[in-house]
Amino acid sequence: MAKKIIVPKRTSMSMQAPEVRRDNFNEVALGYTLAEAQTEARRCLQCKKPTCQAGCPVEVDCRGFIREVAEGRLDEAFRAIKATNSLPAVCGRVCPQENQCEGACTLGRKYEPVAIGRLERFVADSHYASSACQSLTGGDECPLPQEDLRVAAVGSGPASLTFAGYLATRGIPVTVFEAMHEVGGVLVYGIPEFRLPKSIVALEVEQLEAQGVSFETNAVVGRTVGVQELLNQGFKAVFVGVGAGLPRFLGVPGENLIGVYSANEYLTRVNLMKGYRFPEYDTPVTRGRRVAVFGGGNVAMDSARTALRLGADKVFIVYRRTRDEMPARLEELEHAVEERVELVCLCGPLEFSGDDQGRLTGVRLQKMCLGEPDESGRCRPVCLEGQTESLEIDMAVIAVGTGSNPVLTRNTPGLELNRRGYIVADPETGETSLPNVFAGGDIVTGSATVVMAMGAGRRAAKVVAARLLGATEVPIRE
Ligand SMILES: Cc1cc2nc3c(=O)[nH]c(=O)nc-3n(C[C@H](O)[C@H](O)[C@H](O)COP(=O)(O)OP(=O)(O)OC[C@H]3O[C@@H](n4cnc5c(N)ncnc54)[C@H](O)[C@@H]3O)c2cc1C
Ligand code: SF4
Repeated sequence: MAKKIIVPKRTSMSMQAPEVRRDNFNEVALGYTLAEAQTEARRCLQCKKPTCQAGCPVEVDCRGFIREVAEGRLDEAFRAIKATNSLPAVCGRVCPQENQCEGACTLGRKYEPVAIGRLERFVADSHYASSACQSLTGGDECPLPQEDLRVAAVGSGPASLTFAGYLATRGIPVTVFEAMHEVGGVLVYGIPEFRLPKSIVALEVEQLEAQGVSFETNAVVGRTVGVQELLNQGFKAVFVGVGAGLPRFLGVPGENLIGVYSANEYLTRVNLMKGYRFPEYDTPVTRGRRVAVFGGGNVAMDSARTALRLGADKVFIVYRRTRDEMPARLEELEHAVEERVELVCLCGPLEFSGDDQGRLTGVRLQKMCLGEPDESGRCRPVCLEGQTESLEIDMAVIAVGTGSNPVLTRNTPGLELNRRGYIVADPETGETSLPNVFAGGDIVTGSATVVMAMGAGRRAAKVVAARLLGATEVPIRE
């Protein structure tokens, strides 16, 4: 057999130029053409043991779908991905691939790994753009819904959407209860349009609806209806995927000045009030001129890049460690720097200052160096006593993580929580301390990733399906 020629570099994907995109909310990455996708797919070694699949929390058959792309069979490629992933267009855009599928790619040991995420995005986008979409959700393939086996999911983020999608394909109808007026969780309220267009999330949600998933918005479980009430109403099981949306603050003086936002509030305001379509929509959100964002994760990158697009002259990301330790997806960090977001590393906030009307005017920063690694394996930031610097700013965004959202947990007696307020759930099955109540996603793990939340939704759905379909009388837990 002829030896395969290895192409060391991955196929590049066209992007909006940094000088152009920093002034608009359109999607930054423009995707592959068919020819580019096939060139990239042909780099795949088709390993006997596909480590990429094992690296993916929802076990996408990467080798299989990439082979189909290489051969130009896009419908088959889509089916291969959809077999385990309810949100491929989302995952192809926002998964931290470098730590997951691509991080485990054999080619990546010596060369650049296969661009699995870009290929996944290409397959999903091509599918939604074609009429082939009908073939997947059309009658014949969907099992008849078994109305007596209704299941509820609370929250409509990736954990619940995956849970619902898995059960729907097995004929179990799921009703998803969402507190907000739009479906999608952080995919809609948190991640900005320029990274994940809302229309993409809507397409994947529409597919779930076509498969028999129903959505009730403006339904705050724990307030408008309780978890036990849902079970009493005849839902055979309840999956709790309410995320971890409670903002954390820095706890330094001046944090209550006008112009200091939590990232959660800032991004939700912009996304919900369509600030990304300014000037068509005139969003009531502060448009800072000099903005400092505190944190080094995806949320910090999104906040900084949003502030740029809303007209800021200067945007700083202030982070206690160095660029190498930043937890953001590599691509987002690179994109932010290309757009001229300035990184102020090895610095932490000491206090905010304001004018006599209570408006933010600046922040004093403590300089740091890196010490010994802590329990997380990352080097601990250590204060350099007496060394400070000041930044003149008129807006600050705090993006240092979130805590557990207490609305449901506080009002669900008997639901075991850990000391940080997250739900205690079996990592294999998602079972909680309450019979027939499952949980997964950020409300169990704390803030993590889209595909980790999806993995948890899928594991719980497998257990629920096995139990419900195994017997009509459902003692979900003995
Ligand atoms: C700005 C930002 C950027 C991110 N970027 C990335 C990224 O690039 N890649 C990545 O992998 N991850 C990213 N993440 C993390 C990722 O989005 C989360 O890990 C993931 O969305 C968690 O999914 P979930 O289903 O657990 O919850 P969520 O997505 O948080 O959804 C929970 C839903 O439950 C609803 N809810 C809450 N309480 C109730 C209630 N009582 N009743 C009914 N509904 C309720 C909420 O309104 C929400 O819609 C980002 C997060 C943020 C905030
Ligand atoms: S779902 Fe995410 S981790 Fe899994 S193959 Fe797709 S891009 Fe990679």
